[in-house]
Parts: sequence; C-alpha cells; structure tokens
Amino acid sequence: MRPCHAQPISLLPPPQRPGATVADPGPGRVQGRVALVTGGAGGIGQASVQALAGEGASVAVVDVQGDRAQEVADAVVRTGGSAIGIAADVSDESQVAGAVARAVAEFGRLDILHNNAALTDTEFLSLDGSVTDMSLDVWDRTLSVNLTSQMLTCKHAIPDMVRTGGGSIINMSSGASLSGDRTRTAYGVSKAGVNALTLYVATGHGKQGIRVNTIVPGLILTDAVRAHLSEEMVNSLGRATLTPSVGEPGDVADLVVFLASDESRYITGQMFVIDGGMTARAGHVGGEE
Ligand code: NAD
Repeated sequence: MRPCHAQPISLLPPPQRPGATVADPGPGRVQGRVALVTGGAGGIGQASVQALAGEGASVAVVDVQGDRAQEVADAVVRTGGSAIGIAADVSDESQVAGAVARAVAEFGRLDILHNNAALTDTEFLSLDGSVTDMSLDVWDRTLSVNLTSQMLTCKHAIPDMVRTGGGSIINMSSGASLSGDRTRTAYGVSKAGVNALTLYVATGHGKQGIRVNTIVPGLILTDAVRAHLSEEMVNSLGRATLTPSVGEPGDVADLVVFLASDESRYITGQMFVIDGGMTARAGHVGGEE
C-alpha cells in the first residue's frame, strides 16, 4: 500500500460544464432557473440567495423582514443578477400562496424552493425548554414557523413546478433533529418533522419530477450566531469538528446550489448533514482535540 504521505495531493481543476473555458466559464449551474428562498433576508438564506443568483438563477427573496429581503434582492440586482424581495410570514397560508404567485408572475416559472426560514430569535428560543416547562404558545408557534411553513410552501409551489417539468426542493433542518437535548424541545421536534416531510413529499411527487432533500446543519457561524457566542465557545465548538474550522453560511449555500442543480438529478429524499464531521465522531458532545 502506498504511504499516504508519499505524494503531495494534486489539486484537480473544478469540473467544467460543456463548452466552458477559463476565459468564458459558460452558463451558471442553475442558469435560467427561478428560485424562491424563504428566510433569505440574512444568515444562511442570504448566502444561498447570493450563490443561486451567482449561478444564474432569478431569486425571490421571501422573509418576514420585508425591507431586509428587498435589500438582499437589490444587492443581487446591483451585481447584475435577477432578484425580487417579498415580505411574507411563511406560517400564514395566504401569505405563502401570495409569495409563490408573485414569484411566478414576475419570473414566469418556479424551479427551486429553498425552505430555510425558522424561528432563531434567542429570546424566543430561551422560552423553548423541556416538555414540563413548555407553553403551548411556544410549541405551536415553533411548529408553525419551522415545519407547517415548509408544508405550505410545498403545497403552493409544487403545482407550478410540475407545470414546467418539475423542480428541486431543499428543506432546512438542524442537527437538533438527530438527538435529544434538555432544552429546545419544540425546535428539535419541528426539525425532525422537516426530515419526515422531505421523505413524504419526495415519495409523493418524485414521478412528477420533484426532488426533495434536507440539509441538516450543525453549527454555522452566521453573524447572528457569532454575536451571541463567546470567542471561547466558538473555539470549543471548533475543537469538536473534524475539519480545521467551523462552517460558514457559504458552506451551506454551496450545498444548496448542488441540490438545486442538475448535478444532483438522481438524488432525492436524502438528508445531508453538514457539520464538519462533528456527529461522525463518537462522544462528540463537548469533544476535545
Ligand atoms: P437567521 O435568523 O439568520 O435566518 C432566519 C431567517 O428567517 C431570518 O431572516 C428571519 O427573518 C426569517 N424568518 C423567521 N420567521 C419567519 C417567518 N415567520 N416568515 C418568514 N421569514 C421568517 O438564521 P440562520 O442561522 O441563517 O438559519 C437559517 C436556517 O438554518 C434555519 O432553518 C435554522 O433553523 C437552520 N440552522 C441554522 C444553524 C446555524 O448554526 N446557523 C444550525 C442548524 C440549523
């Protein structure tokens, strides 16, 4: 067997699309497609909007923070891309139906749905404890925004996707759906529901050309996460990953583009854990180097 240190690892050029050259990289990986991204006003959603637009998609940026969604869309347009901002609360069916209709009216079709919005507000999450402390309002609101919203967007987007030959749906879950904790019960359960929703929608609509996959992120250093984690905490979590550093929004956005593109055309009903290998390691909780 060849010792693993015998040769330096050669860096292969990235795969090229047919007809692409270095001078002219050719069409983007989702060129001409139309995407709707919920919770696109910041964090991971914003990175996914930028990545999809950068690969040629027109993007409807949907968020309850309507002004911020418009700013994200405007920034895409300033760099030569195509995007609109839409203010909508994704837990409200009529607003979801309106957002999908507006995206289709603006761009003529819908090919990619990225269900990314969730309740991430630290104050709200502090109310989400164990079941014995659970207020029904916190439970209902969490399931409504994190899970029911994804059912509603699928319900209203799939008919339009099928009309133009199918599409790709990318649901956002969380590592919190894969194991228990003493706190954030409603959040973890809502995300476990997302994992199951993916299986059911993938099964029900696969033959109509609809692919559905789930992204299961571990810790991702968005600006908001950075703001409420101490340097010491980030370093400690960094030691629990198998990768040299902790993930950033762009890492998830790259996976979103892959799952949105035809590169993943034979992949559906799957969960993709993106956590720097944190859960691949035995005894990872509180793990050290
Ligand atoms: P974020 O707070 O930056 O983004 C969430 C977005 O959702 C915000 O723009 C917010 O305004 C929007 N939103 C909230 N409620 C809404 C509603 N009712 N209608 C429409 N929009 C609404 O958070 P993030 O860290 O970028 O998280 C994005 C997704 O990734 C979430 O689904 C989250 O659960 C998941 N996730 C994040 C991490 C992480 O470490 N950052 C880890 C695991 C999972």
